[in-house]
Amino acid sequence: MIYYSTHHHTPRVSLQEAVIKGLAKDKGLFMPQHIKPLPASFFQDIEDMSLQKISYEVADAFFGEDIPADTLKQIVYDTMNFDIPLVKLNDHIYSLELFHGPTLAFKDVGARFMARLLEYFIHKEGKEQVNVLVATSGDTGSAVANGFLGVEGIHVYVLYPKKKVSRIQEQQFTTLGQNITAIEIDGSFDDCQALVKSAFSDTELNRHMQMTSANSINVARFLPQAFYYFHAYAQLKKKGIEKDIVACVPSGNFGNITAGLFGHKMGLPISRFIAANNNNDVFFQYLQTGIYTPKKSIQTLANAMDVGNPSNFARILDLYHHNYEAICADISGATCTDNQIKEEIRKVWKEQHYLLDPHGACGHRAIREGLKSGETGFFLETAHPAKFKDTVEKIINEPIAIPLNLQNFMKGTKQSIELSKKFSDLKQFLLNS
Ligand SMILES: *Cc1c(COP(=O)(O)O)cnc(C)c1O
Repeated sequence: MIYYSTHHHTPRVSLQEAVIKGLAKDKGLFMPQHIKPLPASFFQDIEDMSLQKISYEVADAFFGEDIPADTLKQIVYDTMNFDIPLVKLNDHIYSLELFHGPTLAFKDVGARFMARLLEYFIHKEGKEQVNVLVATSGDTGSAVANGFLGVEGIHVYVLYPKKKVSRIQEQQFTTLGQNITAIEIDGSFDDCQALVKSAFSDTELNRHMQMTSANSINVARFLPQAFYYFHAYAQLKKKGIEKDIVACVPSGNFGNITAGLFGHKMGLPISRFIAANNNNDVFFQYLQTGIYTPKKSIQTLANAMDVGNPSNFARILDLYHHNYEAICADISGATCTDNQIKEEIRKVWKEQHYLLDPHGACGHRAIREGLKSGETGFFLETAHPAKFKDTVEKIINEPIAIPLNLQNFMKGTKQSIELSKKFSDLKQFLLNS
């Protein structure tokens, strides 16, 4: 498959190059030249297929031309080896629980897949070392650090905003050691993301080291996220629900929802999408006005969605040929204030004894308010509530249980490098390492 840049100012590249480079030279995002529709036969008996089998069929459409079938199958089966249950909350609303992986958030899927794909390409090319730079507002760091831990030939630098991630999240990427270095930036998530982008376009750094991104700008990170949309559909179809299905996605950088939109282009019968935002509502504003105005991010209870200039907006525009009406036909928006997040968590806990995390709460609220009669909706429950223990306990006023693998992370010792938000400081540090 050939990949082009959303800025169109750079030559087209192979999958291998798109994955190793992360971002195109002209700072655009890579897009596959074709999106292969899946055959009708795939949807006919999808309800009888396992998550791994479904994922492999979708992966084959994206990556089958570039990776031998047995290798790809192994990568997919190893990545998707945990449950993604679709839990019924009432007659119309389902929760797609994406938090049963190693770091209890949906990013485990993309991170684990990307680690294996990158490892494959590094060995194939005979490259010595590739450095993964990743900016995180919490969950990306933990998923990427754990997905790449111990992978030979890859060093990971996690940049995160000081004091703006939860303690559990921080423990998940600062305690690992080995090939993982955590860098604590005195700034916001947007500052971290800007630093990573500056690093990628710095000539001297690029001469010094091979760098790539494991944020959802990397095609190997974001495309695999399409897998579980098909799996959700399969589970609904099994229950006899095949039409008027709405998917609601708590969104920050918009990688997750963009993967769903790719699935839609491949023929997945989801009738429309809802992008749930917190107070960082640039996409919501875009849908209302047709004008896209990036803003500084504001801190909220759903911190993984605190993004003021979502990277994957460029991919959505491109996917819809910059046609505003077409975008609005498929996607509607919603916002959720911190107070509404609290209300939603309390309400669903009290009425249904189902515990939402702050991100899932935005999704649940958006679907509860946005679903029309006759529609069935599922929202992506993107993280386990225990990842936001302090916040959630305060809201419901009850202690919550911490899953065993999270407890284990809490035992480690934090190790991190502290840097200012000046690019020159990061550059110096990387040149010396
Ligand atoms: C990353 C993240 C999001 C936002 O996903 P995007 O792909 O950046 O839109 C939502 N919820 C949680 C828990 C996350 O970690």
